[in-house]
Amino acid sequence: MRAFSKYFHPHLFLFFADRYIRIKLLSMFGDRSHHHIENDPEYSGLNVNQGVEPLPPVSEDSVKRFLKNKKRRQLSVQQYVDGILIGDITILSQAVTLIESSKPAHQETAQEIIVKCLPFSGNSVRIGITGVPGVGKSTFIEAMGKYITSQGKKLAVLAIDPSSGKTKGSILGDKTRMEDLSIDPNAYIRPSPSAGSLGGVARKTRETIVLCEAAGFDPIFIETVGVGQSETAVHSMVDFFLLLMLAGAGDELQGIKRGIMEMADAIAINKADGNNIEKAGLARIQYSNALHLFPATESGWKPRVLTCSAQMKTGIVEIWKTINEYFGHVKNNGYFQHRRNEQAKFWMYETINEHLRNKFYQNEHIKTLMEESEKKVLKAEISSFVAAKKLLDFYDQIRKINTL
Ligand code: GDP
Repeated sequence: MRAFSKYFHPHLFLFFADRYIRIKLLSMFGDRSHHHIENDPEYSGLNVNQGVEPLPPVSEDSVKRFLKNKKRRQLSVQQYVDGILIGDITILSQAVTLIESSKPAHQETAQEIIVKCLPFSGNSVRIGITGVPGVGKSTFIEAMGKYITSQGKKLAVLAIDPSSGKTKGSILGDKTRMEDLSIDPNAYIRPSPSAGSLGGVARKTRETIVLCEAAGFDPIFIETVGVGQSETAVHSMVDFFLLLMLAGAGDELQGIKRGIMEMADAIAINKADGNNIEKAGLARIQYSNALHLFPATESGWKPRVLTCSAQMKTGIVEIWKTINEYFGHVKNNGYFQHRRNEQAKFWMYETINEHLRNKFYQNEHIKTLMEESEKKVLKAEISSFVAAKKLLDFYDQIRKINTL
């Protein structure tokens, strides 16, 4: 003990004991000697949060890159279809742009979208509206369109205007022509595709109808200029055909081709306002008499002639009533479905024909030979039939070589 006390003085012992206890406590509860109450999780006063690294400044380049990528962002086919089915106009428009595109990749995507939308289409009524430039088509569509949307319906207006490719400016489908309708949330107005053959434009319009119907639009108006062949194409995709006319100065039946009149399910004499009311009434009688001379229609419907003023918005409701009467009639007697079936058949052949035609005419060898043949035919060095046969035989040979 003496030896022990020699080396371990009681004070030294107490010092070591104190150190030991401190170290033990420290290991059990941590160092609380520098404890700040504000860092305690239970403390509800001012909290001192950890600082963050400042972000690097955003460069103009990266903003541009982001916007570019955002624009380019491609939706999947299913995203297009889902967007269309919930009636998203932006996505519908983007899908229609794919239909109108001539790029093979776009065409492929468009076809996949159409196939997926087909089961949701076919439920609308498709109405063709035609008439010469200036007759008042856009004024009429605006007036009738506003009436239709006021009834809680969703209206799509599509245009077929093959002339726009040549003139670089569309006669039809210019959105600014229908000012009120173009800002109506229940209306979708799509101008005519800006280029392409009549067959191509018509097919694209028919495909656009499918998407519009899947997006819940009903009715669908197809507008065209009543001066060319586009009426025949429109007739092959609508359920009802309305011809707009003007009361002329005596020569009423001259303005428009007989064939177009024969297609009409109703004729509306527009601009029946002001001094023109009487003339319009007279024209109505004349056109009614003329229509009686035409053979009975396959639908059993007797085409009607009415008057209206698109500008004064008179006679519009009567025309809409007539259109609905027609649908009651043809849905009852089965003609509505019959006509749709016939149209589906027509478009199958039309699509095949267009494809074959394009393959033939776009072949580089044929193009060269075609020019020579044409010159020879014009100089009467060769008959049209022989020239055509030679070209077709040559095309057959090219195809055989390509398949070998
Ligand atoms: P579109 O070329 O067939 O589309 O014809 P618009 O709708 O552009 O109309 C051609 C012109 O006729 C415009 O100046 C219209 O204001 C006018 N218009 C259209 N409908 C009527 C109408 O019912 N009465 C009168 N007086 N003018 C009209």
